[in-house]
Amino acid sequence: MRVKLAKSAGFCMGVRRAMEIVLSQANKGKGPIFTLGPLIHNKQVMDMLRSKGVTTVEEPSGLSHGSIIIRAHGISPEKRRALKETGLRVIDATCPKVVRVQSLVQFHTKKGGTAIIVGDPKHAEVIGIVGYSRGPAYVVGTPDEIYSLPQLQKPFVVAQTTQNKETFRRIVRKVTERFPDAVVFDTICDATSSRQAEVRSFSGNVDGLVVVGGYHSGNTRRLMEVARDAGIPAQHVETEKDLDRKYFAEMEVVGLTAGASTPNWMIRSVARELEGIKGKRENFTWNAIRKASRFLLFSNLLISAGAGLLCLAAEVLTDNRPNWIFPTIAFCYIYAMHVLNILLDKGASAYNDPQRAAFIADHKAFLLALGGFSVAAGLIISFFQGVNTFVFAAALTASGLVYGLPLLPSFGKAARSRLRIKDIPGSRSLAESLGTVAVTTLLPNIDRKADSLTAIALAGFALFFLAFAKAGLFEIFRVQGDLIVGTESLPISIGEKRTVTLLKVALLGSACTLSAGLLTGFLPRFALAMTAPVAAMFLCVLAYERRWLYPGLTFEAVSEFPFYLSGFLAVVAAVLF
Ligand code: SF4
Repeated sequence: MRVKLAKSAGFCMGVRRAMEIVLSQANKGKGPIFTLGPLIHNKQVMDMLRSKGVTTVEEPSGLSHGSIIIRAHGISPEKRRALKETGLRVIDATCPKVVRVQSLVQFHTKKGGTAIIVGDPKHAEVIGIVGYSRGPAYVVGTPDEIYSLPQLQKPFVVAQTTQNKETFRRIVRKVTERFPDAVVFDTICDATSSRQAEVRSFSGNVDGLVVVGGYHSGNTRRLMEVARDAGIPAQHVETEKDLDRKYFAEMEVVGLTAGASTPNWMIRSVARELEGIKGKRENFTWNAIRKASRFLLFSNLLISAGAGLLCLAAEVLTDNRPNWIFPTIAFCYIYAMHVLNILLDKGASAYNDPQRAAFIADHKAFLLALGGFSVAAGLIISFFQGVNTFVFAAALTASGLVYGLPLLPSFGKAARSRLRIKDIPGSRSLAESLGTVAVTTLLPNIDRKADSLTAIALAGFALFFLAFAKAGLFEIFRVQGDLIVGTESLPISIGEKRTVTLLKVALLGSACTLSAGLLTGFLPRFALAMTAPVAAMFLCVLAYERRWLYPGLTFEAVSEFPFYLSGFLAVVAAVLF
């Protein structure tokens, strides 16, 4: 079954921000945490938050110790005052776009205007917005309600941020008919309208649509309405277990979207389940290819082979004749480090990639055995390359182990967690890229003459930046799971936008280093060819930033392409020159 994933599916900015605020508070472990009302309408996410010690309360009465978080919907000023009086620490996670609507209502009603709010009068966001009005405010949900309004002074219109665009347009038409001087503010959030527009755009391009999200989530239900209006056969599911497999087996291409409160891991689970349904015209070969690529990705064999190929490129870049020995060591080392990662995983993979987590759980013994074999094979091969190479390879393996172990004796749980390298913010991407450079560039050159040191350093920097960009991109893919389990990754520490900028700068650094090496004559002409994998990685970062591709298996495979390309170019260069 082919699945077309909507680019806008999943957490919107406001929900993601609120989740990050709640999870970072929960990970600090400083006293009890409450949210005023459910943070989002998603049962699975709420269960997860409960397991992290976050309690939902409808009223703060009786509470006096801990922190209380205002969710993305916001609250009225009156309620905010009442919260402050409780003595609880108030943390505001109101979405900035909702704050804008609140400010508009406050500002214009202060000047004598009357607010007409298009939305659901019972919705928490609307109740909060009404609270900002200095005079009477009127909430309307249908065009006909406009005729029952009294004569209004300086009327103006705002909308609940998740309103249906079409309903808003129809209501505004009636408002301007009845109150020609009314001022209209279209406050419908782009995240909502683009999500709805994308559903409409599926019409004629897919055989059916799956909408993932809580059954009580208003914006998810509205997506179903939009699909129905557009004539697309659709099913609303909360999890992959709710999918009607028989219904979709009749189809060939299925669209997939999700409400603003649906986390990535749930969307991915549904996508995988759908992909697993044998579509109308699928054949045996296609299924076999898909299963094989899944195995290669889940088992990390594809990633490790990428490191081996990068090693080939490093050899050509440092004027070595490429052979199979060091790429094999690189493959073994990277594979072993990934197995180590499996052991160190605090459970984030279950949230980031449930299918991969299930694969690992099913094949753990096999993967660990393969990891152990890789360590042994890597060390044995390096032993035959000389003492220095062996010692360096052994030191690299040991440093991989130290990464996850407490550095100093611990005196309690808190102390222990602070003393591991892996808990230093951003250390994972740094360690991964340093390890890649060490095994692909330094190890093969450990016994070389001193006059090639500059070339090794330049190649090392160029490949470090390239590897760092890939590691950073994967960190972004894993951000939701890392947040849940409290791993201090790069995007969590400095934010996703800054991480993307940093990755671009790193790739620019890689291209500049290669060019400098080429111009000064320290690096061979192959340095010019290596700018192609750097450009390919830049495109991967751009693909994420512009949402051309959605994080998932396909994107992971695509992100490996620059390493494979570098290996291919190295082989071509070795054959030609
Ligand atoms: S849908 Fe828009 S307004 Fe509502 S929380 Fe998300 S980003 Fe904010």
